[in-house]
Amino acid sequence: MKNRIWLSPPHMGRHELEYIRDVFKSNWIAPLGPAVDGFESDLVSYMSVRSAAALSTGTAAIHLSLILCGVESGDEVICSSFTFSATANPIVYQGGIPIFVDSEKSTWNMSPVHLEGAIKHRILTGKKPKAIILVHLYGVPAALHESIEIADRYEIPLIEDAAESLGSMYHGKKVGSFGAMGILSFNGNKIITTSGGGALISNNDELVRKARFLATQARDPAPHYEHSSIGYNYRMSNVCAAIGRGQMKVLSDRIARRREIHRIYRNALMQYEGVTFVDEPSNSFSNRWLTCIVVDPKKTGGLTREDIRLKLESHNIESRPLWKPMHLQPVFAGCPFYGDGVSEQLFRDGLCLPSGSSLSDSDLEKIIAALASLFRR
Ligand SMILES: *Cc1c(COP(=O)(O)O)cnc(C)c1O
Repeated sequence: MKNRIWLSPPHMGRHELEYIRDVFKSNWIAPLGPAVDGFESDLVSYMSVRSAAALSTGTAAIHLSLILCGVESGDEVICSSFTFSATANPIVYQGGIPIFVDSEKSTWNMSPVHLEGAIKHRILTGKKPKAIILVHLYGVPAALHESIEIADRYEIPLIEDAAESLGSMYHGKKVGSFGAMGILSFNGNKIITTSGGGALISNNDELVRKARFLATQARDPAPHYEHSSIGYNYRMSNVCAAIGRGQMKVLSDRIARRREIHRIYRNALMQYEGVTFVDEPSNSFSNRWLTCIVVDPKKTGGLTREDIRLKLESHNIESRPLWKPMHLQPVFAGCPFYGDGVSEQLFRDGLCLPSGSSLSDSDLEKIIAALASLFRR
């Protein structure tokens, strides 16, 4: 594992340890504390939202957002199929049924056409979905205007999974701040990290207040421990929040570097027939969390994404196929799906390239040289 080039490793700045030292000095080694409050206010100002709750993971944030939408046993929730399983799993934690919707070709995110088709069909055959989870995958903003218009028209709350898209913007506004609630992740592989962590953000203070209550074991106000609802232990640790405060200081540098890496890959690979990238939609700004390529073997003389992955692996370079759509996962077999094969093709032909902001120019050259050797066979 020595000298391995990773897909997206953590990248610490200069201030994280100072914040951690303050935490140790004050002995706030606990969930909650001043660093958590500080991190939440950092997020509120960065995202331009009214409120944020720092949580143990992004998955926990999705779970709480579904509880706050009133999702209960037997309820249906619409969810992007092309995503990481953490988006969909919390639906099942609540006893709900995921209804998967395919991607559109342009952004790889949920197709508004299939979204509306799914809602209409669910209403016709049974009941109205309780919520929509819209994912902004790989840092690319989804079709928000269309999706919000549909969600509003059918009066279904929209939850934005912006776990991979911190800093991405749609029409000048941060993604994650459009829906009823947005969720963020600070897992080790994300654009900034708290080692593990997440947040629920909203312009509705009351929702965030309820999320904090549920995330701290749902303690009713009383001197003893009094509970009238089921709680969770989902708050962020004060130590992790200290890391987050330091990482917020370098977020704009991290985004700039990931975008630069994307540009370098594009310039180097553009010349090869059969290799394509997802474009930044108009009026959008992508944090370019991961640079992904789609490889069409019909145009590359038979070269597949798996050939490329194995070649990179032989150079000790990590790359990964794009997310396997949820409607193809054994665990979600039998869940309804609305689509036409876009995400299946992306999974078959797509590859994520090393994109970490700490990637050096010489490592990047090494990756590009390995790729070039394949195309110049
Ligand atoms: C990482 C990720 C999550 C989950 O976040 P965790 O903090 O790892 O729980 C959810 N959705 C997407 C799209 C992700 O990439």
